[in-house]
Formats: sequence, C-alpha cells, structure tokens
Amino acid sequence: MDNLKIQGTILTPDSGEAYTAALKRNSDLSSLPAKYVVQPAVYEDIPPVLAYATSQTPPIEIAVKGGGAHSSTWASSDGGIVIDLSKLNKVTLAEDKQSITVQGGAYWGDVYEVTSKAKVDVVGSPLWFVGVGGFTLGGGFGPLTAEHGTAVDNLISATVVLADGRIVRASHNEEPDLFWAIRGGGGQFGVVVEFVFKTHPPAGPISSGILAFPGTEIDKILAIIPEWKKTQTPRERFTMNFSRPAPHFKPSIAILPTVLHDADGSRAQAVFAPFRDGEVKPVLDKVGTVPDMLAASHAADASLATAPRRLAIRGTMFSDFFPELLKTVWDRWVAFTETSEEVRGSAVLWDLTVPDKMAEVPSDATALKRMPYYWMAVQGRSTTDASVQACKDFTESVVELVRKKNAELSGRDIGWFLNMCQGHEKPEDVFGDNYTRLRKVKAKYDPKKVWSKGIVIEPLVN
Ligand SMILES: Cc1cc2nc3c(=O)[nH]c(=O)nc-3n(C[C@H](O)[C@H](O)[C@H](O)COP(=O)(O)OP(=O)(O)OC[C@H]3O[C@@H](n4cnc5c(N)ncnc54)[C@H](O)[C@@H]3O)c2cc1C
Repeated sequence: MDNLKIQGTILTPDSGEAYTAALKRNSDLSSLPAKYVVQPAVYEDIPPVLAYATSQTPPIEIAVKGGGAHSSTWASSDGGIVIDLSKLNKVTLAEDKQSITVQGGAYWGDVYEVTSKAKVDVVGSPLWFVGVGGFTLGGGFGPLTAEHGTAVDNLISATVVLADGRIVRASHNEEPDLFWAIRGGGGQFGVVVEFVFKTHPPAGPISSGILAFPGTEIDKILAIIPEWKKTQTPRERFTMNFSRPAPHFKPSIAILPTVLHDADGSRAQAVFAPFRDGEVKPVLDKVGTVPDMLAASHAADASLATAPRRLAIRGTMFSDFFPELLKTVWDRWVAFTETSEEVRGSAVLWDLTVPDKMAEVPSDATALKRMPYYWMAVQGRSTTDASVQACKDFTESVVELVRKKNAELSGRDIGWFLNMCQGHEKPEDVFGDNYTRLRKVKAKYDPKKVWSKGIVIEPLVN
C-alpha cells in the first residue's frame, strides 16, 4: 500500500491529527480505526486501491465515505481501508444552468453554495452537512421532494468506479442496469465519484423556524394534523420533533415548518394558522424567511452544536399520521427519556412532506421502493458510553413498533428506509420487490462482493 502511486493522500495511524480528523463522523458511534484512509485527488486514484485490497489474502475490507453522516459504521472500517471522498467535492453548474455536476464527496452545503449564487435549486438534504453520496444512493428525500421528486428522480447520470477498476458513466442510455440500481440501492455497486442532477427554478424565499408546544398538548396536535394535511400543498411541509429542550427538559412538541416560494412570509403565517389560533397556542413561535436552501440548511446549526455526539439513528416509513400510532410512540419516548438524564437528548422526528410526486414514479423504475409514504427517525443520543446500548435498543424497538403498528392500521407492511438502517435488516424488507433485480445487477457489477458494507446485496447469477 505504501508503494501505491496516487495523486491523493494515504493516511495511517502514524499520520497524527490528519488521520484522527479523517476518522471523524457525524456520530461518534460511527467512527472506526481504519488501517488506511485513502483520500483520492482524482478518480484514477481509486482503481489501484481496489486492486491492492482485493489481491490480498484474505481481501482487505473496503469502506467508502461520502459525507460521513450515516449513523451506522458503513462508511468506516476497523482495520481495513476507507476510501474517503472528502477531496472530491467540486460542484460545477452547467453553462445553461439546467444541470449541476457534483463530485461524490461533496456535502449538500457545497452544492447550495453554488445554487445560491446562481439562483437555481436542486433536490437535496434539509441539512448542509449530509453527504450528497449516501443521501442520493439511498433515494434522498428533501424539502423539494414534494415538488420535484426524490434526489434519484433528478439524477441525469453518474460516474462510477466499479469493483474491477473500470470507470464508467451510468445513465438511461449507458449501463442502464447500473443506473437503475444506484438510484436507491445504496453503495453496493461502486464508488460514485460524480453525480449530474437536474436543476430547478429557485425554491426561495423559504420560511422556516419553530412552533413549540408543551407535551400536554400532544393529543390536540395529533388531532389537528389529519385536518391540516387536507389543504397541504407541495410547497409546505414540516418536521415534527418530540424533544426535551433546555432549560426545563420537559417533553415538548416542535413543529419545524418549511414553506417554499414564500416571498413575504405571509403564506407561512396563513398555512400554519391552525397551529396558532385554534385549539392550541405555541409557547414559542419563531418563523422567519430566508432567501434559499443554503440559509435554510443551516437553521439547525445552533441546536445541533450542543447535542450529544453519541448518536444512533434508526428510521422507517409509515403510511399516515395515525394519531394512535404517534401517541404510542410519544408515550414510549416520554418514558424512555425519563429513565436518565444521560439519554434525555433523544428525539423522535416525523417528516410530513406530500408524498404524491415521489410515489407517481413506478416502483420498478428505480431501485427505490415507491408508494405514498412518509418517513420518521428515532435519534438516540447519549452523553455517556454506558447509556449507548440503551439508546440503540430504544431506537430499534421504536422503529419495529412503528413498522408493525403502521401495518396493522394501514393494512400494508412498508419495511425499512435504507438511509436510516443499521445493517442487520433483511434486504427484502429494505428493497421490497426490487430485491431480485438488485441481486442480478450485483452479480453483474460486483460478483465478489467487494462492496460488503451496508445492506449487503447477495449476487444472483441468472
Ligand atoms: C441529521 C441527519 C438528517 C438526515 N435527514 C435526511 C433527510 O431529510 N432525508 C433523507 O433521505 N436522509 C436523511 N438523512 C440520512 C442520510 O441521507 C444518510 O445518512 C446518508 O447515507 C448520508 O450520506 P453521507 O454521504 O453523508 O453518508 P456516509 O456516512 O458517508 O455514507 C453512507 C453510506 O453511503 C455510502 N456512500 C456515500 N457516498 C458514496 C459514494 N459517493 N459512492 C458510493 N457509496 C457512497 C457509504 O459507503 C455508506 O454505505 C439524514 C441523516 C442525518 C444524520
């Protein structure tokens, strides 16, 4: 490995701070001590690393890191090689502004820096520090999804370094099976070093902020939501958080709105009126208007800066905001966060984005499973190592409950959400009916399972 001639950097535990910094992830629980961290400077740096790792006996484990936001350890390796794409983060807008080329190690914040200046928009993450790579390969649900679909619905082409070292372009016309698989199949088919996305007219000004309610109002809030949804348009969405904010750490409900194309903030006022002037009144009402996604993606910076970094996330899909389902989760969350101060930073998030646009794409058109659904996430946050396992158990038990109860209430089992899995989930439950085709594509592009982290797809030879 030391003799590999590459233009990028190879870090080892002897590299000091640079190595330590390269192991850092959004969650401290996601970091593992790699033997080598390779930071490619050009796409051609990657094939020699793959050749080296696969020629060893036994082959050395390879992990790929995009933005490092996933709360699993998929983008890290204990004793193996991490291909860390952080130096491949260039973003280039096409001259006609109709498309944008993004390298595989960019954060969504890097993209929004460019789209903000150019006054265009793209379907990306609500938060700047989420990586374009993992987000997109898992489908990618963002604030613009109700208007323009998921990130993969806006993908025009991708450049992929395959397990055998070839560097190929995938699109509807080139390597179409690969293009189908990377749109929702995760990092199981190669290192995506470049994405080309469709752009859209600007989504700003964007109103966002917080409406917060004491936990005693939970039943009233849950009763308002089904009515509110009836008049919701693709331009407005919210995330609802169950959390215990300082200084009193009492159970609270936070509604975090995003209202697109809201020139003077008046639509946000009108649309969220049922949460202000009806049965409930917020104890905190702070909704303002920012110019674009760049500013909106930094809205949570202050609160996240003080959140415990031992973070375990699990999430799943659900069919509707059934009050019975959400109340059961509320009760569980209240009870869990009362057990100890160490875990009271744990939160539950529910995303209310109109799902019609995402679901209008046929389920077999890309690897991403489709039907009208919403997604939720459980964030287990602990201040000590001793309480990490309790947080992991809590996140797992809640998503299992949501999946089961949602199936009972809706008559449909939706399975798991790849971007919020931990790795032990059954691939059939993640990919649904698309799993068989994914297995065949895996056999074509990665028969020896060089990409063996994540929800691993078992190759199926025809
Ligand atoms: C705070 C927070 C908020 C989130 N909000 C949303 C949301 O609103 N909508 C949503 O859909 N998801 C959301 N997610 C989930 C997020 O999309 C996933 O965690 C995603 O995997 C992160 O991408 P990353 O590149 O930062 O991850 P990493 O940890 O770097 O990688 C995750 C996986 O993708 C693979 N991968 C990453 N880049 C590449 C690449 N270029 N080529 C090949 N494989 C690659 C890695 O090998 C790994 O398996 C959120 C996550 C967090 C932590």
